[in-house]
Amino acid sequence: QKYGVNELRRMFLEFFESKEHLAMKSFSLVPHNDNSLLLINSGMAPLKPYFTGQEIPPRRRVTTCQKCIRTGDIENIGKTARHGTFFEMLGNFSFGDYFKTEAIHWAWEFLTECVGIPADRLYPSVYLDDDEAFRIWNEEIGIPKERIYRFGKEDNFWEHGAGPCGPCSEIYYDRGEKYGTGPEDVMGGEGDRFMEVWNVVFSQFNNDGHGNYTDLIQKNIDTGMGLERLAVVCQDVASLFDVDTNRALMDEVGALAHCRYEEDDKKDVSLRIIADHVKSCTFMASDGIMPSNEGRGYVFRRLLRRAARHGRILGIEGSFMTKLAQVVIDLSKDGYPELEEKKDMILRVIDQEEERFANTIDKGLEILADLEKDMEAKGTKVLAGEDAFKLYDTYGFPIDLTKEILDDKGLTVDEEGFHKAMQVQRETARSARKTTNYMGRDDIYQKLDASLTSAFTGYDKLEDESKVT
Ligand code: ATP
Ligand code: MG
Ligand code: MG
Ligand code: MG
Repeated sequence: QKYGVNELRRMFLEFFESKEHLAMKSFSLVPHNDNSLLLINSGMAPLKPYFTGQEIPPRRRVTTCQKCIRTGDIENIGKTARHGTFFEMLGNFSFGDYFKTEAIHWAWEFLTECVGIPADRLYPSVYLDDDEAFRIWNEEIGIPKERIYRFGKEDNFWEHGAGPCGPCSEIYYDRGEKYGTGPEDVMGGEGDRFMEVWNVVFSQFNNDGHGNYTDLIQKNIDTGMGLERLAVVCQDVASLFDVDTNRALMDEVGALAHCRYEEDDKKDVSLRIIADHVKSCTFMASDGIMPSNEGRGYVFRRLLRRAARHGRILGIEGSFMTKLAQVVIDLSKDGYPELEEKKDMILRVIDQEEERFANTIDKGLEILADLEKDMEAKGTKVLAGEDAFKLYDTYGFPIDLTKEILDDKGLTVDEEGFHKAMQVQRETARSARKTTNYMGRDDIYQKLDASLTSAFTGYDKLEDESKVT
């Protein structure tokens, strides 16, 4: 039985509803009252106040399918089978209610009985000294001792920023030798043969953000399973990009690039990067995030412009991202009706940002190529900070994009010099403002600051100034 992504999402939520959980809607990608995170990166992140006891949850058992963005995985996109910058995380949560025993039993029941994954393909891991979890897997579930792995803090102690954390038990799925036979293709290795599917966290400590741990007043359960990874297992496909919903998106990217997915490894990476990044941007726009040079807005800009560059690599001409965003909306509106509701706004934001960069990307790439030649002639491997700043300021190249292009050729950027050049320009802009009478509202200054430092073609600047003067 091959379940589709939208079906699996429903099955999961219904399974945990049958275990008396309250199914809640996905929260926004924008964290609420949480400075430790730029974007929501897990199912538990928006629920932190319930874990700490700061707020009373609507029920002590909750289940969600949470949209997540992890820019930390950006380098992996298109290269590993299992990472997206955007993904959906299925989760069941206990706020001081059930603990290890039920959490492990239900995870197992869902995977093996509800979805029907063969038990002998699944391998649990536990935290080093977590004998209790080990015992539950071994004695109660019946997994032989030699198939339960004990891993250290890096894998089996879950924390992201400040807040609730604790040891965890993860469930891996062995996809078989066809997905790798190298040294990394072992249980817990970085390869994609043994794919981590589900993380069950026994959340019982609080990290104050400085590595000081205290016991939480209640013991909680926080679990996270990548919906797309579950679909990879059920559909027995090569990667996240091949599950039913993403596959339709890949086909569309291929059509726009006039190349078939799975014909050329290098092109495939670009196709996947484009699909993934446009998906992230579509969801970010639906949560009201606008491209800018700071914070979340910078993530948006960076992803979109990275996708634009890969579009150039594939030889795609003209605007193409709204066509893909449209596909993302159609494929995901089942779980996220806000995509359809905000469709016009999403398409407009993406279109504008793509358009803005389209005016400068080719010239910028040309200039960068010239700079590379100069560097070679001079025998240096480091691009001057001022040059990187010019690319950023005049041609709209996020510093990360410049770094990445150079990195492919074994070159780097003087980042300190880049930031210095930016600082100088900010100060010049600030003193220029003092001589004019602006409205004096902080948010407007900030906006102006951002637009002045971005000022790709100059028309941005005019637009913003005409609003405030
Ligand atoms: P990995 O080791 O494979 O990078 P992780 O340990 O970083 O995964 P967790 O933080 O434990 O992942 O998140 C819980 C679950 O969310 C994972 O078990 C996986 O199913 C899913 N997941 C994590 N990161 C991604 C991603 N970038 N894309 C898709 N799914 C992900
Ligand atoms: Mg990871
Ligand atoms: Mg992991
Ligand atoms: Mg994990």
